[in-house]
Amino acid sequence: EPVIELADAGKTYRTGSIEFEALRGIDLEISAGEYVAIMGPSGSGKSTLMNIIGCLDVLTRGSYRLGGEDVSELDEAELAEIRNRRIGFVFQQFNLLPSLSALRNVELPLVYGRVQRHDRKTRATAALERVGLGDRLQNRPGELSGGQQQRVAVARALVGEPALLLADEPTGNLDSTSTLDVLALFDQLHAQGRTIVLITHELEVAERAARIVWVRDGVVHTDEVTR
Ligand code: ADP
Ligand code: ADP
Repeated sequence: EPVIELADAGKTYRTGSIEFEALRGIDLEISAGEYVAIMGPSGSGKSTLMNIIGCLDVLTRGSYRLGGEDVSELDEAELAEIRNRRIGFVFQQFNLLPSLSALRNVELPLVYGRVQRHDRKTRATAALERVGLGDRLQNRPGELSGGQQQRVAVARALVGEPALLLADEPTGNLDSTSTLDVLALFDQLHAQGRTIVLITHELEVAERAARIVWVRDGVVHTDEVTR
């Protein structure tokens, strides 16, 4: 069952009369339960591809289906709705609210999703337990290690049960111990059947995924199953 289907996907940026083709015809299919790393040198188009996959931007050519739904030509409001419903994001900066407890941070997407208060607390608690932070519910981000903060961000990404976990350089801000901690969590989520797409420029991180897609000059250069 495909979660991501990109066909001849192209993205051309226009700045005045200057055009730049950042993606030049990407064909990529990612199935439910896959753990895929996207790698490539700086300027290769990784961020652009991440923005497309994450419904933060739209293609200028070709098509994109997410969870079977054609999202190629949606407007801003429709894209926002798709993002909330289908995608859990994890970024290099954890983007947690410093004044809120771990529990409240994880509840936030459900507040916007209009889930009842009692239900929110139950679900956010369960999400934090799943990432191994059941004993840190009331701690604020500043009281947690970097790895623990990123775990909170992962719990927040997963609390709405999205079809896709999309992580952009999730270990870019972590020391080596915390990096291993977060990568172990991703292994565990993969084993539980989550669909994970990880954008990274670190080979040691990418090698933890089951498949590595190398982007180069806006096209898929190689696509290899690693285990
Ligand atoms: P990466 O994430 O691999 O570093 P990007 O997707 O950020 O690559 O960028 C790919 C290419 O597209 C680069 O040459 C970059 O300068 C160009 N680019 C990215 N965003 C824009 C933009 N908004 N306008 C014009 N050019 C852009
Ligand atoms: P990264 O290397 O982390 O991918 P970049 O520094 O390439 O980030 O890009 C940061 C932001 O600037 C992105 O939103 C990207 O789309 C935009 N950008 C990159 N290159 C250009 C460019 N040539 N013109 C306009 N915007 C750009």
